[in-house]
Amino acid sequence: MSDHITIAKHDHPCDLCGGIIPKGSKCRIIHDDFMPKLVYFEHLRCPTAKAVFTDSPKPKKPLKPKFMPAYCGC
Ligand SMILES: [Zn+2]
Repeated sequence: MSDHITIAKHDHPCDLCGGIIPKGSKCRIIHDDFMPKLVYFEHLRCPTAKAVFTDSPKPKKPLKPKFMPAYCGC
């Protein structure tokens, strides 16, 4: 199985939830490597189910303080 994310050119039914993937929205396409004619369309995030794939970027690293508090041994 191989998959990639593309923009839907037509309205497609989602193979996971059965909802409509509207034209112009991002969706996930899955190709079967052994049967190339088998293609599955999925929402990136089905509106009625848990997320199966997210394309959110990695979380940002926290900002480091400009001054590190120095230890005072008084
Ligand atoms: Zn769906």
